Amino acid sequence: MTNSIFRTFLTLLLLIAVTSAHAGPANPGKKAIRVLLVGGGSSHDFDKWYKGADVETLQKDGLATVEYTSDPTTILAKIKDIDVLLLANNQPIADDATRKAIFAFVDAGKGLVLAHPALWYNWKDWPEYNQKLVGGGSKGHDKYGPFDVTITNKKHPVTKNVPETFHLDDELYYQIPDESGSPIEVLATAKAATSDKVFPSIFIVKYPKGRVVGIALGHDAASHTIAPYQTILRNAISWAAGH
Ligand SMILES: [Zn+2]
Repeated sequence: MTNSIFRTFLTLLLLIAVTSAHAGPANPGKKAIRVLLVGGGSSHDFDKWYKGADVETLQKDGLATVEYTSDPTTILAKIKDIDVLLLANNQPIADDATRKAIFAFVDAGKGLVLAHPALWYNWKDWPEYNQKLVGGGSKGHDKYGPFDVTITNKKHPVTKNVPETFHLDDELYYQIPDESGSPIEVLATAKAATSDKVFPSIFIVKYPKGRVVGIALGHDAASHTIAPYQTILRNAISWAAGH
């Protein structure tokens, strides 16, 4: 080997070493979680806070690879290649085949995370969605404003490294469990300053086979850009993926 070829070879080795040192995953030994994030619809800046901020939050340190779509009709083709479905859509999932595929996905033990608009009672012709996958839902919320979130189960992986209480501006969802639906396990509650009413804010839906997490927070920048929300979102995706 001539000197110049040898130097080139050494440089290449060094480059490979440097590149792999920087590509280390957040969860060593585990593959990045494949997530499909579905947004779109009215009342929210989905491109900014879901396609933008949340995708960045989840992809940080290689935790997940996230594909964002604002078109629910694309779920059907993509669902076979993902570990976690993250629904934040404020628009209907209208076709029967996609609805069945979502239930089959969760029945197969896969992860489902339901964020903010996805907890709403939006779709009158699909009651099984709220009853079985959400374990209830929201039909109203306080006017956007400040409130406190309190972690009520600090031992669950979804609330790991989240401060016991945090304050934010958001819509306080009136999340009501459905007595005839899947039971929920509340991990954090939200309480408005002006009322004594307390509502579930972060919760697990005890759907028999799948791993389902509900996150009521998430209207705009005031939630998506704060550390507690970002930690909860990352924890929820990890837990839903079985990591
Ligand atoms: Zn909202």
